[in-house]
Amino acid sequence: MATERTLTIIKPDAVAAGHVGDIIKMFEANRFAIVAARLVNLSKKEAEGFYAVHRGKPFFESLTKFMSSGRALVMVLEGENAIARLREVMGATNPAHAAPGTVRKLYATSIERNAVHGSDGPETAAFEIGYFFPDVEPV
Ligand code: ATP
Ligand code: MG
Repeated sequence: MATERTLTIIKPDAVAAGHVGDIIKMFEANRFAIVAARLVNLSKKEAEGFYAVHRGKPFFESLTKFMSSGRALVMVLEGENAIARLREVMGATNPAHAAPGTVRKLYATSIERNAVHGSDGPETAAFEIGYFFPDVEPV
């Protein structure tokens, strides 16, 4: 197991609902260290650039509108096996399928408004960390 860095976003639904503190508490309880953080209000274009891999999918327009609808907290997290472990702590994309005790089971309200983002692999993590934190080393 190696120390990794991953990018997470506490999405506009969870920020608006006041879940930032509870979600950060879960990250810290799971031995993730916060190495960078920014509160952002993404433009539609910035959200489209971030989720470029999903361009053309039926949910792309609605997703990028949602992601640019309010404040979001973007963070780089570091820890052992951080990329895969964060995905476990987050739970399944669709909260209806998320395991008990995961962030999405607790705080997501739909498959779109699902409270958090986490990078899905090392290349994605490097792209996503660079997208928001050009001065932060991805590993
Ligand atoms: P994320 O990339 O945000 O961490 P994920 O990797 O679990 O989530 P992706 O397949 O990458 O899921 O989808 C990106 C985001 O797009 C999801 O988190 C969700 O907000 C939205 N999304 C995905 N599938 C759907 C869908 N079928 N309907 C509506 N929104 C969706
Ligand atoms: Mg994804």
